[in-house]
Amino acid sequence: MTRFVKRARRNRRKAVLAVATCAWLAYAGVCQGKSFDGPDGTLYLESRTFGSVEFVPLHDLAEAFGLTLRWFYEARRVELRNTVITLDFLANSRFVLVDKQDVKALKSPLLFVRGEAFVPASFIEGTLKPYYPRFQKQGRRTGGTRIVVLDPGHGGKDTGAIGYGGVREKDVVLDIARRVRSALVMRGVKVRMTRDDDVYRDLDERSEMANNVGAALLVSIHANAVSKDKRAISGCETFYLSKAQTVSDATTEAVENSAARNSLVSGWRFLPIRFKRLFLSRHFTRVREQSISLSRSVQNRVGAVAVGPNRGIKPANLAVLRNTYCPACLLEVGFVSNPTDGTYLSRASYRQKVADSIALGIFDYLDTL
Ligand SMILES: [Zn+2]
Repeated sequence: MTRFVKRARRNRRKAVLAVATCAWLAYAGVCQGKSFDGPDGTLYLESRTFGSVEFVPLHDLAEAFGLTLRWFYEARRVELRNTVITLDFLANSRFVLVDKQDVKALKSPLLFVRGEAFVPASFIEGTLKPYYPRFQKQGRRTGGTRIVVLDPGHGGKDTGAIGYGGVREKDVVLDIARRVRSALVMRGVKVRMTRDDDVYRDLDERSEMANNVGAALLVSIHANAVSKDKRAISGCETFYLSKAQTVSDATTEAVENSAARNSLVSGWRFLPIRFKRLFLSRHFTRVREQSISLSRSVQNRVGAVAVGPNRGIKPANLAVLRNTYCPACLLEVGFVSNPTDGTYLSRASYRQKVADSIALGIFDYLDTL
């Protein structure tokens, strides 16, 4: 065989290979490895270019971020979720819904190739990056030490306020608290309720529960009411313990209280009394700051969805806050005495909305720790 023929055959093989490669690339995209800035350092993912846009397989992205991927075929929706974030993708849509409420735009819609979903690579550093601090705290949050105590006000013989159309505070707040519990549990937070039924609990029992389980925080849920001549008053507000009570009185009480001894410090009984006072005074000063931060987080979220005005956060000397040693706040979800607030609070869909916002407020607060 002449050298010429050999070269021609080699060139033909090359040409066939090139055509096949081009066809495959046009079909499956150019496949390559790519590094990204991830929550805990550099991430390496396979990426493919379709058209001029670079994509990564949604499945690989889910694995890299510890997210569970679920398909909802009928709704044409893909959900990625873990204890810190929920991402909803719609087929053929450029939008992704973060935590069921924040809409973010993708560079191009989710792409489906041979049954596999691909998301534009820019989604990682463009959309996910602002949420990285949550991923970094995930370990701490799901470490089993974070217990949230929800305290639905009143119950049993104590109906609380009776409002517009006969709506009862004790029923409204228990239902909201149960819905908050579901939202928190779904994200891996442990929850204790001071009551999960229509039963009476006195205020000390409620605080004691939070102190005994070493709660990370307590949110007491109530609904407001005023006399008939003030029916126009509406809106939500959140209370934290006023300063005089928190630091001095709580210190004095806690020095003698066994729950405080057990939950706040080990080796307590070997400490001289003045150290106990100093320790507790510092502890309650910090707890008060955290209670204000918790109140603000919860109020901001609830205020954003509430039908009535946002009445803000306020100090108050309330027993359930006074006797609780962890950060705590008392939320008044609305005025049942007001026709609008009362009507909305008697609707399950509105109570769900309020509950979701309370859960988000709790997450916002946990993110600041
Ligand atoms: Zn109440």
